[in-house]
Amino acid sequence: MAIDTLPPLREVIARHNLSARKALGQNFLLDLNLTAKIARLAGDLSGTDVLEVGPGPGGLTRGLLAEGARSVLAVEKDPRCLPALAEIAEIYPGRLKVIEGDALQVDPRAHLSVPYAVAANLPYNVGTELLVRWLTPAAWPPDWSSLTLMFQREVAERIVAAPGSKAYGRLAVLAQWRCEARIAMSLPPGAFTPPPKVSSAVVHLTALPEPRFPADPEVLSRVVAMAFNQRRKMLRASLRGLHPAIEDLLREVGIAPTDRAERVPLEAFCALARAVAAAR
Ligand code: SAM
Repeated sequence: MAIDTLPPLREVIARHNLSARKALGQNFLLDLNLTAKIARLAGDLSGTDVLEVGPGPGGLTRGLLAEGARSVLAVEKDPRCLPALAEIAEIYPGRLKVIEGDALQVDPRAHLSVPYAVAANLPYNVGTELLVRWLTPAAWPPDWSSLTLMFQREVAERIVAAPGSKAYGRLAVLAQWRCEARIAMSLPPGAFTPPPKVSSAVVHLTALPEPRFPADPEVLSRVVAMAFNQRRKMLRASLRGLHPAIEDLLREVGIAPTDRAERVPLEAFCALARAVAAAR
């Protein structure tokens, strides 16, 4: 699909004086072929509403709309970006709504049909916090069907990591328990203006209809947080505060109390969460 008839992003940025601000995590994508490619990673968007966090000057927003998203709700904290986004809204009548505000405070349900897709070149300073929120709603399936998110490469690797690797931790367990998660694209620093210090990657997560293994979300979150908080310690020590008989519970589900969190597969963490819940 042709992207649109709006001017190139460099021109938009110059005209609206959008010099990048570090405090807002502003590393812009100016190549519209690239933003269209990222939008396509989100899958078929026709008939789907999309939540975009941090549209900035609107490169990815333009990609999402050109790729056929039914509507885009864009939440942007920097008021300087609003005039540029208003120009996009004008050529896609009724399909782009912009909310000026902090994505951590905005509830998208009032504006979008469920399930919606989420796509974002996330501000690094709030990216992980937003991801954890999207991954830990009380009810499953969640309001969103997929997340297509740019992260620092190192964070992307933590999301898709397998047990036994250094990157395996809380993010991997929370993401892989109820989602299909993969790295869909890698980007060098030079793809952004200004270039960040590190490489980036787009992660695509699809919500599974049901968790892979049964567990209470709150108990599992607590078990995993404690286990990885002191990841070098043996589980019998790191999980001591969880239950007085933690060593017995670990053995009951086939985990050696002397093992460390990074060697425990997702299924065993879920079994441990069930055992802890049952022993309360
Ligand atoms: N999507 C644009 C692109 O790809 O070029 C901009 C990406 S830039 C990495 C991150 C954007 O998120 C910036 O426009 C920044 O102002 C915005 N932002 C930062 N913190 C935010 C927050 N808490 N809520 C909403 N937007 C935020």
